[in-house]
Amino acid sequence: MKLAVLGNNGPFPGPGGACSGYLLTEGDTKVLIDCGNGVLSNLQKFVKFEELDAIVLTHLHSDHVSDMMVLRYAVQIKMNRKQIQKPIKVYAPAEPAEEYNRLAATPGVFDISPVTESTALEFGKLKLAFAEMKHPVKCYAVSAYNGERRFVFSGDTSWNENIIAFSRGADVVMLDAGLLSKDKTGENVPHLTAAECGIAARESGAKKLILTHFWPEYDLNDLLSEAKQNFHNTILAEILKTYDI
Ligand SMILES: [Zn+2]
Ligand SMILES: [Zn+2]
Repeated sequence: MKLAVLGNNGPFPGPGGACSGYLLTEGDTKVLIDCGNGVLSNLQKFVKFEELDAIVLTHLHSDHVSDMMVLRYAVQIKMNRKQIQKPIKVYAPAEPAEEYNRLAATPGVFDISPVTESTALEFGKLKLAFAEMKHPVKCYAVSAYNGERRFVFSGDTSWNENIIAFSRGADVVMLDAGLLSKDKTGENVPHLTAAECGIAARESGAKKLILTHFWPEYDLNDLLSEAKQNFHNTILAEILKTYDI
């Protein structure tokens, strides 16, 4: 299983950067997780969008979905030109309804289905499962298992015990390191601190931690050293880099 980072910023991109987007591949199977701004451009450095088996959206905040609204133009026009035959499968939380309905209002372009905690998906050898996280809108962490290795991505979340249970024994966990501890102003922050990412990785028994969802103005070394105080085997998600899971 391979993971290509197409965007690692949030909630806005730094210069030349892109927000949340990750291409997961296993053999011929290709699943895009999140499609924030800048992701459609970077995706095409790896695959054609019509080759995707599915797009999974962790939640419907703009930094995770905004390129879907541009992708629909590309799919629509290619369909008119008979270059694409069938809609792209999309899976997303059904809330907020106005965001979900905007994606669903493109019949023939996106074939959208709601995600819940009981959703189980299978594409080739990849089995996907979901767990609800804690965020201002409904958000699901996603795990991918290929029969040997397991990868977990938190989506956006503040601290909650679910992330530990869901990441239990994973080979690689990729967590929302949206905050440095100094910027955690209370319990009602929408993201994990890098230190909390380290704790979650350690407590879950995961083997490796990838930090992502970087505030563009942070020094990434600060995030890395904060996480490493709690979990040594931590790396930063580098844009356009591919990782073996
Ligand atoms: Zn975000
Ligand atoms: Zn969010």
